[in-house]
Amino acid sequence: MSFKELQLCTPLLKAIADEGYTTPTPVQAQAIPYILSGRDMLAGAQTGTGKTAGFTLPMLELFSREQNPQSKKRNIRALILTPTRELAAQVGESVKTYGKYLPYKSAIIFGGVGANPQINAINNGIDILIATPGRLLDLINQRVVNLSHVEMFVLDEADRMLDMGFIRDIKKVIALLPAKRQNLLFSATYSDEIKKLCESILKNPAIVEVARRNTSSELVKQSVIFVDCKRKSSLLGHLIEKNKWEQVLVFTRTKHGANRLSEYLTKMNISSAAIHGNKSQGARTKALSDFKANKVKVLVATDIAARGIDIDSLPHVVNFELPNISEDYVHRIGRTGRAGNGGEAVSLVCVDEFDYLKGIEKLIKKTLDKSTIEGYEPDPSIKAEPIQQGRGGGSRGNSNHRPKSNNNSSPKKRDSSTHNRDRNRR
Ligand code: AMP
Repeated sequence: MSFKELQLCTPLLKAIADEGYTTPTPVQAQAIPYILSGRDMLAGAQTGTGKTAGFTLPMLELFSREQNPQSKKRNIRALILTPTRELAAQVGESVKTYGKYLPYKSAIIFGGVGANPQINAINNGIDILIATPGRLLDLINQRVVNLSHVEMFVLDEADRMLDMGFIRDIKKVIALLPAKRQNLLFSATYSDEIKKLCESILKNPAIVEVARRNTSSELVKQSVIFVDCKRKSSLLGHLIEKNKWEQVLVFTRTKHGANRLSEYLTKMNISSAAIHGNKSQGARTKALSDFKANKVKVLVATDIAARGIDIDSLPHVVNFELPNISEDYVHRIGRTGRAGNGGEAVSLVCVDEFDYLKGIEKLIKKTLDKSTIEGYEPDPSIKAEPIQQGRGGGSRGNSNHRPKSNNNSSPKKRDSSTHNRDRNRR
């Protein structure tokens, strides 16, 4: 993916080249097409992911696509609300940098400094306003700022806004915006409050989520264990017990797979809960709070359900099944290794999933460490079968989720010294 493929105009491409950017970051590649299509968007992206260019570039592009941009009187057509003056300054800098070959004007307003230069800048006519909520409301009350022409509204670092107690100010600002507008909301985490805010602001939003730029490579120890599809459950139980994992987020491809696996683990006396789209909000919230409070060791989740998980430093993520979309792998492992803590991401891969594995390695530009665990080696006579979407674990269906008691791979019977050795080998 190149910036040119994102359909950006030459003045923007030139500014991007001046910055030395060669390829869009994941949030840019995902968000820019949605924004250009005019959709509202909810983006889970932190500072450091390139999110600012992710909304600034398409904003400028949309303005530049208008027929007679110069014939319009300058009105504030985009409002970017940020929680802090530092962020406002940074975003304002980005707007200037990316827009340097375009004719649009912007101003940055925040409290703690004299208002006059800000008032003058606005009075000279601007297209884009970057503001913190308090100073914005002051200048609205002084009739310096008029928001009635805003076409695009960006709420940046919405979670921090709420943490800082800006919810009432945000609501006051929103009440002054025209009903017809495009809304973009960025947040690194999703609390219930953020969800409520999204529901009140966004209409049918596109959802974009990216891991931190460095998660795939630096902080997370990633590995693959080859195992037959039908033995994955017992291998997972074994890994959890043997390595004494206390907090593990496990991803399955389907809701049924999540339920079955959670039931299996519970039967093995490994406390576990499943969260997915079929569960009520109450059940999901409870599962998550039990998991956070270390009351359950294992949370089994589907990709969509995991979007709501805002735990900062999960030690272990397991891909019980590889995702069919390679980017989801990066999102999944982005759940660990956060906040500077190391993390471990283990993928249990069966013969059906080799193509997915290749796709992931291509995306992350890295060959993953691969191993087998003694007692769980794949049977070489099993041939790959196509994975049917909507069913867990391939066409074989991962049906064997019951704990086995008479099998030497049973967690209760395994030889611990062997498994420790295996683990060390990995
Ligand atoms: P942000 O997450 O918006 O604060 O951006 C983080 C940093 O990434 C900033 O210093 C940007 O200049 C830089 N950046 C943004 N987009 C790209 C890109 N496509 N390639 C390289 N660096 C970028």
